[in-house]
Amino acid sequence: MTVSQLAKSIAESPTLKLNEEARLLREKGEAVIHLGAGEPKNRAPVSAILSSAAKLNTGDVKYTPADGTPSLKKAIIRYTEENYDKIVAPENIIVSAGAKQSVYNILYSILNPQDEVIILAPYWVSYPEMVRMVYGVPVIVKPEDGGFHPRMEDILKSVSSYTKAIIINSPNNPSGVVYSDEFISQIIDYCEKKGIYVIMDDIYHKLIFDGKKWPSPYKFTTKDLESSHVIVVNGVSKLYGMTGFRIGWAIAPRELTMIMTNVQGQITTTTSVLLQAAAEGALTGLQSHIETLRLTLENNRDVMMQELKSFSGVKITKPNGTYYCLPDFRAYTNDSVKLSQMLLKKALVVCVPGKEFGMEGHLRLSYAGSIKDVTEGVARIKWALDPNSPNEIYIGDRKLVRDWK
Ligand code: PMP
Repeated sequence: MTVSQLAKSIAESPTLKLNEEARLLREKGEAVIHLGAGEPKNRAPVSAILSSAAKLNTGDVKYTPADGTPSLKKAIIRYTEENYDKIVAPENIIVSAGAKQSVYNILYSILNPQDEVIILAPYWVSYPEMVRMVYGVPVIVKPEDGGFHPRMEDILKSVSSYTKAIIINSPNNPSGVVYSDEFISQIIDYCEKKGIYVIMDDIYHKLIFDGKKWPSPYKFTTKDLESSHVIVVNGVSKLYGMTGFRIGWAIAPRELTMIMTNVQGQITTTTSVLLQAAAEGALTGLQSHIETLRLTLENNRDVMMQELKSFSGVKITKPNGTYYCLPDFRAYTNDSVKLSQMLLKKALVVCVPGKEFGMEGHLRLSYAGSIKDVTEGVARIKWALDPNSPNEIYIGDRKLVRDWK
């Protein structure tokens, strides 16, 4: 079979792969604990369901404009005004099939072959692959101090005449780290001066703990939207528990939005009108469940930190947001892929290898599940790895004995 070299080189999404592996094991009746989840347990808001159902009941389910329905765009304008303190025009917005497609559209629309995009490690798994898919070059910048917070000095060393964009994701998947206002301000200021696009992936922007505040990126630029290089990405997946609805959006200068609309118009036209109606319902309905989710996650995060503390050798950077943390397991092994496979096989716990996020020797653990998942999940990892832990454990109604070192 002859296929494209590039397409063949694109890695399978490790998180989607693990979801599938966990599902298959559960189907077989195995007591799997999923600490790999990138979505909350809560159902979609009632306002989203009613809005979508009302549209479906009309039977009038047709194409929409390629950049999204005018009424969803109106809701996004309001959301942006309320949360970003910025008034944008409908011509600055393009709705896509998830924030994922928004990021891809942006990259497709701004990069020429060989243009470079700076990606800050630890990074979301899809960024480097997406850059490569549009013939760009991902330039991974890892903080030299070994931490998870990016440093300007490391970034400056990686900028070249080919640098077209930098992707900023704060709160960050996978580390849960929230970047400082000072850093966001410096990077936006620098990129605006150099004409480098700053793609702000804000998909977790309200899931922040410890009283920290998320700043609107527009606060840090003096340029108006049409001449600014700041591009915002957001969506309903992570805050509203609507990952399956596949609605995200980008906010950009009109000229770029028009180009992205032409690109999307040739590929997917747009995303479904029913799902756009659902997103509109979510954005205009009651918002209190976001705070409920945030509080649940903060509590789950505290429990996970507590459980991990008693794990000898494991180093933790406390996350200030998202669903995730990224503990360092290098005291046990440097090979996070092997480690996650071993944990799935022996202890029936799903963890995502840090290698996929540019942080080998770490595991991404999600606390988006129940408290029981968190405590039992960490207990199982401890049992599998820590020789100081009791060597017997119950998984479901099976007693397992650790017979390896
Ligand atoms: N950006 C980040 C950082 C993410 O973690 C995810 C989902 N895992 C996305 C974007 C994609 O979100 P969506 O479901 O809206 O495509």
